[in-house]
Amino acid sequence: MRILVINAGSSSLKYQLFDMDCGTVLAKGICERIGIDGRVKHQGKTPYEAELPMGNHADAIRAVVGLLTSPETGVIAGMGEIDAIGHRVVHGGELFSESVLIDAAVIRAIEECVPLAPLHNPPNLIGIRACEEVMPGVPQVAVFDTAFHQTMPERAYLYAVPYDYYERLKVRRYGVHGTSHRYVSERAAKILGRTGLKVVTCHMGNGSSVAAVSDGASVDTSMGFTPLEGVPMGTRSGSIDPAVIEYLMKRENLSAAQVLDILNKKSGVLGVSGVSSDFRDLLAAFETNRRARNALELFTYHVKKTVGALAAAMGGCDALVFTAGIGENNPVIRGMVCSGLSFMGLTLDEELNKTAKGESVISTPDSRGKILVIPTNEELVIAEDTRRIAEKSTR
Ligand code: ADP
Repeated sequence: MRILVINAGSSSLKYQLFDMDCGTVLAKGICERIGIDGRVKHQGKTPYEAELPMGNHADAIRAVVGLLTSPETGVIAGMGEIDAIGHRVVHGGELFSESVLIDAAVIRAIEECVPLAPLHNPPNLIGIRACEEVMPGVPQVAVFDTAFHQTMPERAYLYAVPYDYYERLKVRRYGVHGTSHRYVSERAAKILGRTGLKVVTCHMGNGSSVAAVSDGASVDTSMGFTPLEGVPMGTRSGSIDPAVIEYLMKRENLSAAQVLDILNKKSGVLGVSGVSSDFRDLLAAFETNRRARNALELFTYHVKKTVGALAAAMGGCDALVFTAGIGENNPVIRGMVCSGLSFMGLTLDEELNKTAKGESVISTPDSRGKILVIPTNEELVIAEDTRRIAEKSTR
């Protein structure tokens, strides 16, 4: 069975074609500058990169199908070999706690969630409609970033604000990166060969979030109503006292939207360091630039504090997992997060941490809780959910 995974943004569209029978990625790529001019980078039979006019997302999907089926770059003989399509959808609100087969009612429900993710759900919907236009009749499945966290109990997802805002306006904590937290916590249980685990998962990339996963279910996470809450990130502030917003509006004569833009795009380690949002640049400047050092220390301090809080929420931590760009690749940052966590039974093995490659256990043999590095694979989760749901629907 061949599954096409689509992640549609406002002007970009990432894709991967999976052969689920061999468990391999046949081709992948990205269309960029959709609606502006159009550019594609494709890795298939042969790598291919070109300017390709794309007026809208349907043009981009047509370009992808062309690349997947052409004699030069292609990996399949025709569009008919694509059995199902899986879409990453950012926000499913309280309407979706798992992946679903897309039909008219599901599209309406995703539309209902647009106010909760005004920048993300509309392009996701455009991607779904573009696939329907270019490949009519092929089953499509939606996999939501928020779905995994729908198991959080009320005490974790409610804000302490008038209850009416929750009931009427759906103001609550939703959490993001659910597909990644789900994948790495499942892998941790498999690697350790145990069930009933209390796992804290640290997804540290451009955006960062930490989650508490107890026996396979998310019970709390650091991100909230939007991805702005929680630990500081590349350019996002993470949690701050909301009174700062009004203070900045008055003192700097800014609108609420302008302050939120600053908190989303000019804050985090970029704002503190003044150097970069990329952690590699901060590490390069660590010795010579005090503010770069401050930014790294602030980031790792908050991640560590959140790990402790989420372990307390579960009454323990059997495994701590690092994933995403920073978590998978950087031993220094992992080391900074883990320093001082031996009191709660998590002791890092410096050597294993330094040499970790791919899925690895990096705690000392006598550490009560295990520390792991697990590369995330959100596309694989989308492909597997899509296969399961599409097979059920055609049976
Ligand atoms: P996204 O959240 O967009 O999926 P990634 O998970 O790929 O992003 O993370 C990208 C970030 O990971 C980059 O901004 C960079 O800061 C960080 N990163 C990647 N490799 C390293 C590394 N070796 N050391 C430190 N940070 C890294």
